[in-house]
Amino acid sequence: MIHYDLHCTACGHDFDDWFGNMADWEARKADYACPACGTARIEKALMAPSLGAAKKAAAAEPACNPAVCGNASCPMAAGF
Ligand SMILES: [Zn+2]
Repeated sequence: MIHYDLHCTACGHDFDDWFGNMADWEARKADYACPACGTARIEKALMAPSLGAAKKAAAAEPACNPAVCGNASCPMAAGF
C-alpha cells in the first residue's frame, strides 16, 4: 500500500488516499473523482519541494573559526 497526498486542480481541494502501488494510482487517476466537487482532475501533490535546497545547504562547508583554526594557509585566518 502507498499513501498519496492528492490535489484537485478544479476546486483546489486537498485530500489523501491509499493505493496498492504506483501502477494502481496511474491506472485510476484518469477517472479518479474529487470527493469535494466530483471532477476527475486530480494530481498527486508534490512531496518535499525543498529537498534540493536542504541538500545544497548540508553540503556547504562549515564556517572556519580563525581563533582555533590550525591551518596556517586558511583564508579565514589571513586577517588575524
Ligand atoms: Zn475538486
